[in-house]
Amino acid sequence: MKRYSAFAIVREAARHHLGWQRAWTSPEPRASYDVVIVGAGGHGLATAYYLGKNFGITNVAILEKGWLGGGNTGRNTTIIRSNYLQDPSAAIYEKARSLYETLSQDLNYNVMFSPRGVMMLAQTHHEVRGYERTAHANALQGVETEFISPSRVKELVPIIRLDGPRYPVLGALWQPRGGTARHDAVAWGYARACSDMGMHIIQQCEVTGIRSEAGRVSGVETSKGAIGCNRLGLVASGHSGVLAEMAGFRLPLESVALQALVSEPIKPIMDVVVMANTVHGYMSQSDKGEMVIGGGADGFNNYTQRGSFHHIEETVRALVETFPMLSRLKMLRQWGGIVDMTGDRSPILSKTPLDGCFVNCGWGTGGFKAIPGSGWGMAELMAKGHSPLTEAFSLARFREGRFVDESVAAGVAH
Ligand SMILES: Cc1cc2nc3c(=O)[nH]c(=O)nc-3n(C[C@H](O)[C@H](O)[C@H](O)COP(=O)(O)OP(=O)(O)OC[C@H]3O[C@@H](n4cnc5c(N)ncnc54)[C@H](O)[C@@H]3O)c2cc1C
Repeated sequence: MKRYSAFAIVREAARHHLGWQRAWTSPEPRASYDVVIVGAGGHGLATAYYLGKNFGITNVAILEKGWLGGGNTGRNTTIIRSNYLQDPSAAIYEKARSLYETLSQDLNYNVMFSPRGVMMLAQTHHEVRGYERTAHANALQGVETEFISPSRVKELVPIIRLDGPRYPVLGALWQPRGGTARHDAVAWGYARACSDMGMHIIQQCEVTGIRSEAGRVSGVETSKGAIGCNRLGLVASGHSGVLAEMAGFRLPLESVALQALVSEPIKPIMDVVVMANTVHGYMSQSDKGEMVIGGGADGFNNYTQRGSFHHIEETVRALVETFPMLSRLKMLRQWGGIVDMTGDRSPILSKTPLDGCFVNCGWGTGGFKAIPGSGWGMAELMAKGHSPLTEAFSLARFREGRFVDESVAAGVAH
């Protein structure tokens, strides 16, 4: 694969852009692979990439029922942060955040990582105590965060109203190296690098069954025929429960719709990410000038990829309370994705009751930020059978009661 560079842009400009290669190939599936990954979202592609890069396992197929990056990876609001409370969470999310810092160089693909800073507003005394505690925990975990005063909040976000009608801003948990990245580019960058290593990304290929022999996985049935494998990774986000059923076990997950919306583009007004958990809304400004807004998840299970209308009203109302100048903005479009929620709001990266079959899911409303770290840990788990990054997130924790409770850190949908 030819390298992308400023020189390549100049060269191609001079020859009418006729020399660009396809970013990834679209091969027909082989009869079998060492590893099959189900789901070409960020987590599936990152898992494949680190299997190749860190362990030299490249006889890999990534099967996708739609188009790559068309699931939640292409539907999220792109917030990246690692200010979680529990040690295992801080470890995997900070690993991911630190990999994001150099991901563009690593993949030779501009993922537009923008460490502009993420702020979580404290709007009740309870939240102040909670975030102060998180800031102390983060200091011990080596995650750079601080609790900042309302005047510092105003300095960083001049458009904010500090003395809101219901919930005044009492401070914020601030992570200066949190931020955003371009979600499609993350999927495309990993896909290009996987394809470059000789892996097969097979789109429009739905997995409809899972085969096993004597308690061990032997392959999958798909809309393009049967494909054999030695190891299988189920990385299908909101559809993980459906795949687990095919493999003969159940996952402790709920699948619910989470939605987001964007406004018309306006001139730059806010250069950090702000999350307001109490009133339940969060916002950043895209490079195009749109305000990217997210709110809560639906309170009932479904697979519609749309989300209920009342959430739009609630989210916008909540944000107008904190940012009154938004009241005149027109909203351009809205969309939804199906997220997979666990009881303790932490992911599942685990072996399963079916030997050779692994699962990576349960990222709920906040898995985009984790993609590189999750792929790193999942690849190690699939290659070696264990990984320090994923150990706390095994399925066994639900049986043994060792929950990684992140219901506060992951409480707002992001
Ligand atoms: C509106 C919204 C906002 C969000 N905002 C943020 C945010 O700001 N920050 C953050 O960190 N996270 C956010 N998230 C969460 C984040 O998007 C997800 O956690 C993450 O993208 C999950 O990635 P994934 O690769 O596991 O899943 P996906 O990207 O959904 O990929 C799974 C893939 O599996 C495929 N698949 C499913 N079943 C099958 C099958 N049977 N056969 C073959 N393929 C199959 C799907 O088509 C899909 O492409 C948000 C989510 C939503 C919906």
